[in-house]
Formats: sequence, C-alpha cells, structure tokens
Amino acid sequence: MTSVLLENEEAFADENGGASAVDAVLALMRADQPVDYDPDELLPVQLAAMSERLASQRAAVGLLDRRADHAGIAEIGRLDDAVPLLFSHASYKSYPESLVTEGRWAGLLRWLDNLATEDLAAVDVADVSDLDDFLDRLWSSGHPVLTTSGTSGKCSLLPQSTLDIDRNDANGVMTYGWSHGLSATEKRPGFFMAKRGGPYGGNVMHQAVARTFVDPDACHFLYEERERVTDTNRAGRLAKRVADRTATPSEIAEAKMLAAEAARRTAERLEAVLDALLEHSGEPVMVWGTVFPNWQLVDTASRRGARFEGHPRTAVHIGGGTKSNALPPDFAGELERFYAPGVVKPGAYGQSEVVALAPQCSADRYHFAASTLVILLDESGRTAVPRNGGRVEGLFGVYDIAQHGRWGGLLTSDWLTVHFDRCPCGMQSPSVVEVSRLDGRGDDKVSCAGRAEMYVRGA
Ligand SMILES: [Zn+2]
Repeated sequence: MTSVLLENEEAFADENGGASAVDAVLALMRADQPVDYDPDELLPVQLAAMSERLASQRAAVGLLDRRADHAGIAEIGRLDDAVPLLFSHASYKSYPESLVTEGRWAGLLRWLDNLATEDLAAVDVADVSDLDDFLDRLWSSGHPVLTTSGTSGKCSLLPQSTLDIDRNDANGVMTYGWSHGLSATEKRPGFFMAKRGGPYGGNVMHQAVARTFVDPDACHFLYEERERVTDTNRAGRLAKRVADRTATPSEIAEAKMLAAEAARRTAERLEAVLDALLEHSGEPVMVWGTVFPNWQLVDTASRRGARFEGHPRTAVHIGGGTKSNALPPDFAGELERFYAPGVVKPGAYGQSEVVALAPQCSADRYHFAASTLVILLDESGRTAVPRNGGRVEGLFGVYDIAQHGRWGGLLTSDWLTVHFDRCPCGMQSPSVVEVSRLDGRGDDKVSCAGRAEMYVRGA
C-alpha cells in the first residue's frame, strides 16, 4: 500500500522543522504503524506537545485562553492539568440559534472565529442565504468546517484547517485499509449507505476511502444528493417538538409527511443499490455505512429472495449505534451469512472530531494512534484516572495532537475500558476493549447532573 503511506508522509509532515514535541508525535504518525508504541515512554512527549499547542493557540482561541486563565494553567505537566482544558461537545454548538434563524452571518462568523486557530475574519459572508451557504463560503475560502448530524435541531460547527482534512483522510484510508485488508492497487466496487457529500464529518472521510479503494465506475451511494445541514436541522427541530408534545397539528402532519417521503425514497434507493450490488455477486466488494442502512440492504435482498454469492475478501464496514431503530437480535449474523464469515466489522473506533482513528486489531481491540492523548476521567468528570498499567475504566477525554485548525481538547460522552499493557495482537499502545455511551448507562456513574448535561454529545 505504498501510495497510502506516501499520503501519510505528506499530511503528517513536521510543523516546526522537526524540533518540537508536536513534530516527534507527527513522526510517529508517518511510521508504517502509528498505533504501535510504548504508552509510558510517549506520555511525557504527548503532554509536552499539548503544552506547545496551548502556548501557540491560546491567543487565537478565546475560549481556550479563558479556560487556561481560570484554571491557572500555562503548561501541561501531568494528565490532571489537561482536564480543565477539555471542551465539551456543547462548546461547538453554543452559538445563539437566532444568529442562524435571523441570518446574522457576521455574528456567527465571529463566534466561529473565536474557536478557530486560523483567522476567519476575511471570509465574505455578505448575502449568505442559509447555513449551508455559510458553510460553503468557509470551505471555498480554505476554512473547512465540519458539522455533526443535527438530529436535535441544532448542529455543532467545528472549525478545521485544510491540513486537518488531509490528515483525517490519510489516516482514515490507512486505518481502514489495514483493518479491512484493502489495497489501493486493487480497486473494487463500493456501496456507501450514505449521502454522496456534505460537510458532515463521516461524509468527508468516506469520500477519501472511496477515492482510494473503490472503482470510480462502480461507486454507489444510497443517496446521490449532498447532505444539507439546513434540512437536517429543520427535521430535527420538528422531531423534537413532536417528542416534546409541543408541535402544532400542522407540524405533526408535516413531520408525518416528511417521514413517509423519506421512507419511500429510502426503499426506492435500497432497491437500486441492491440491483447494483447483485451485478457484482462473487467479487470482493466494499460496503460502508452505519448499522441500520447496512441491515436494511440485506433485509431488502432477503425479502426479494435475491441470490448473492459472498467473497472472503469483501469488506463491510459498520459504524455508529443503532440510532434507536429496532433491529432483529441476530442482525449481525444475518449480515455475515449474506456477505461472508468474518468480513463484517467496524474496523475502527473514533470520533469525527478527532483526526486519527483507533484501528481494530486481530484481537478485536481498538488501538489509539500516537497523536491521540487518552485522558480517562472518573465519574465526577473532574479528575484523571491514574494509569497504573493494566485495565482502566473511565469517561473518554482526549487531547488530539494532530488537530491544527482548532484546540484538540475534547470531552466525549463515551465510557471506555482501556488496556495500557501489551495487547494479545502484539502491539503495545493503549487499546479499547469496551465502549458504552454515558447517556446509555443510567445515572449511577454520574454524581453531578450539571456535569452530565455537559457530556451529552452535540449530535
Ligand atoms: Zn491489539
């Protein structure tokens, strides 16, 4: 996979001529396997890299400067110093909604500029028509902004630099290539159970995967159109009002109409994607998407009584949760029986907010890359859990050393079980053995309700 490694060389090039802790970490990201290192040896380098970023970014990132001032932190000497500098997901959706609904784009730009390391002031947002148009202006000015799926009616806006996109693409391609056994020199038919484009983090990544591993003449998407944030937010707001029982009768009718139209369209597209897939029966293919549409495709085949011959080198990536859609208990088995044994797997654990993914190894653990400083927190969310080797459990906080266009400190809502000793696969980096969402765990692990509120993922 020479071409993939070359992409890594460029994306993770030195930032400071090789003479910094950040550069020492970037050098590991250029290695053949960026997830094989001794965590005890690397920890002081990772903390020093975080200190360097704090010093260089606080003047640009207002929120970081205020947090560091308030906590009296100028340097990161130990994991606990990092904790007050982890931003919650809520930080990236803390803009007043009226900036969007009233079209005050200059105000929204100022809010975003306060979170970005690059200067966004020169971006022309005059005559912007809606949030998608606003995001297009930023992307075309060289300031990509990622969004989270705004299922609550308001999406997070995460400023990045073009370097972050290059790094995310290069790492994603390398990670999935490794864990799914893909080769850039053997392009295959690809079936993406998603929209073809848009600023949503997952969309940006699967474009890179498609470019590298998929035959452009046999690249299929469940939805050919681009993801529009404005539409997703509108549907999210409506769904929330229906759930809250605050929707008017006409809003309820609109929600029902939208849901019926989406279901009809999805069913129609599932048939089309299945037709295309059946043309490649017996060949190694790639199928990519979250659990539910992946299962819907196989269910469509089963209801049609379609015959498909699996191939042992097929790669089926399933990501994300079940998104509250009811699935039969044996859906994973159904997928395996349809495609081939052992080919259906996540391949990686990660957040669209973090540059590097943690690839799934042969022991079915997920290994953190050198650029991901893992900070596990106790139930209070205020104290880092000490690493004493072995198995450690905690709320997943992360400092992303590879993040360039915004501050890399993030508090997620995932509760992880991580091993800090050598994995049965042979690699030594910290490896995840279990993930549960904090919001799915009940309240027993959260002693402070106010704190719990902060954890809720901005999705
Ligand atoms: Zn392993």
